[in-house]
Amino acid sequence: MKQTIKALEPVARQLETTIDQRAEWMEALLGHTEQYLRTLPEQKAFNYRTNEGRTLSEIPVGKHPMGIDAILELYKKNVSEVHINPPSARHFGYIPGGGIFHAAMADYLAAVTNPYAGMYFANPGAVRIENQVIRWLCELVGYTSPQSFGNLTSGGSIANLTAIAAARDWMNVTSRDVERSVVYFTRQVHHCVLKALRTAGLREVIIREVPMDKNLKMKVADLQEMIETDKASGLNPFLIVASAGTTDVGIIDPLEPIANIAEKYNLWFHVDGAYGGAFLLSDVQNADGTTVKQQFKGIERADSITLDPHKGFFLPYGLGAVLVKNIDALYKSNSFKANYLQDADSDEEPTPNDISIELSKHFRGLRLWLPLQLAGENAFKAALNEKILLARYFHEAVQKLGFEVGPYPELSITTYRFIPKEGDANAYNKQLLRRIWDDGRFFVSSTTIAGVYWIRLCVLSFRSHLEEIDDYLIFLKQLVKEENMVLS
Ligand SMILES: *Cc1c(COP(=O)(O)O)cnc(C)c1O
Repeated sequence: MKQTIKALEPVARQLETTIDQRAEWMEALLGHTEQYLRTLPEQKAFNYRTNEGRTLSEIPVGKHPMGIDAILELYKKNVSEVHINPPSARHFGYIPGGGIFHAAMADYLAAVTNPYAGMYFANPGAVRIENQVIRWLCELVGYTSPQSFGNLTSGGSIANLTAIAAARDWMNVTSRDVERSVVYFTRQVHHCVLKALRTAGLREVIIREVPMDKNLKMKVADLQEMIETDKASGLNPFLIVASAGTTDVGIIDPLEPIANIAEKYNLWFHVDGAYGGAFLLSDVQNADGTTVKQQFKGIERADSITLDPHKGFFLPYGLGAVLVKNIDALYKSNSFKANYLQDADSDEEPTPNDISIELSKHFRGLRLWLPLQLAGENAFKAALNEKILLARYFHEAVQKLGFEVGPYPELSITTYRFIPKEGDANAYNKQLLRRIWDDGRFFVSSTTIAGVYWIRLCVLSFRSHLEEIDDYLIFLKQLVKEENMVLS
C-alpha cells in the first residue's frame, strides 16, 4: 500500500504550485487583465454575434492540460470582448454593474486564504467582516434596531427567495393555506419574485396585480381595496412586494403608504431594492427641494429588503443581500441543528449558516468590505450621485433631439423612443435598437410597456461619465437623421 501511495504522490502534487509556477502564471494573468483594462475604452460595448464560443467544445475539458497562455487566449477569443461587455463605460443596457477592480482583489484574497465564512466557530474574523458589511447595509436602509440583520447571497434573486421563504414561515403559511393565501404586487415586479414563489412552494398562491398610476407606481388605494375584499371573502392576504427602483423604468413604489397598509392589515411587507437600494447612499437634491433619499421613505418599515451590491455598488457578479427587520424570521426559516456541527455553538455573532439556505459558500463579504475600506464610502456616494444626474441630463437632452420620454428618472433609468413622421413607431424604434447594436460602441436594451416599445438607458457603470452620455447623444442624433432620410 505504501508503494502505491508513494507512486501517486508526484502526480497528485501537480495540484500544488511552486513559487516559480505561481510567478509565471501571475505574470501571464496580470498581463492579460491589464491588456484587457487598458484597451477597454476602445473595445465595443456589444460585439453582436461575432463569436458564440462554439469552438470551445472542440477542446475537451480536462483531457489534455494546456499552458496558461493558450488558456487565456481561448478565454479572450470566446468570452471577454465578445457579446455584452459589462465592464464597458458604454454599457447602458439592462442593469449594468461593471465590476470594480477592488472586488477582484478581494475575491483573489478570499480564494487563496479560503477562510470558512459560513460559521463563526470556523473563522470569527471572516464572519465579523461579513456581519460588518450587513450592518453597514442595515444602517443604509434605516434599520436601527439591533434585531435587524441579514444575509449575503449570490444575487438579488436568491435574496428575494430567502425573503419570501421567511415571509411564508413567519406568517405561518403552510401547504394547507397556499390556495387561499394572497400576494400583492404590480406588473412591474421583477420576474424573479414569481420564480421565488414557485421555488418556495407557493405556486398555487393567489396573485393580485395591483393597478399602477401613469408613472407606473402602485396605486395604494387599490391595494387597500383588494386586501379588504380578499379578507371579507375569507382569503388570507399575507405578502406585499413593492419595488424600490423597478428594473424597467427605475421608479419607486410609494413605500410609506404601503407600509401603513401592511401594518394595518398585518401583511409581510417586502421591498425589492435590487436595482435601486444602493441609491440610499445618494444625497442628490431633486428640483422640488426633496432628496433622492426621501423617495425611499418607508423602506425602514419593511419586514424584509433585497439589495444587490453587484448592481449599485458596482461589484463583479456574485453579491446580493437580504435584510430583515427582525432576524428571528430568518432563524425561523433556516436555523438547524446537526450532530456533526455540535462543536460549533457560539452566541457572540450571528452565524451565517443559521440564517441562510447555504452552508459552505464563497467568502463573499470581503468583496464589498475591501472596496469600502480601500476607496471609502464617499467614492461610492459620488459615483451614485453622478449616475442619477447623468440619467436626468440625458432625459432632458434626448427630448431636445425630438425623442419622447417615459417617466422622469427618480433613479438612473430613462426610457425614450423616436416618433417617425410616418409608419409604425414600435417598428421604427426596434430598427433603431438594431442599428445601435450593429454599431456596437454602445449597449442599450429595450422594454415594452402597455404595448409601447421603448429603448432604455440605465446608467450604472462606475466607468460611465458625462463624455459617454454626450457621445451617445451625438450618435442618436446622427442615427435618427439617417433613419428619417431612409424612411421619407
Ligand atoms: C436585477 C434584479 C433582480 C434580480 O437580481 P439578480 O442579482 O440578477 O438575481 C431582482 N429585482 C430587481 C428589481 C432587479 O433589478
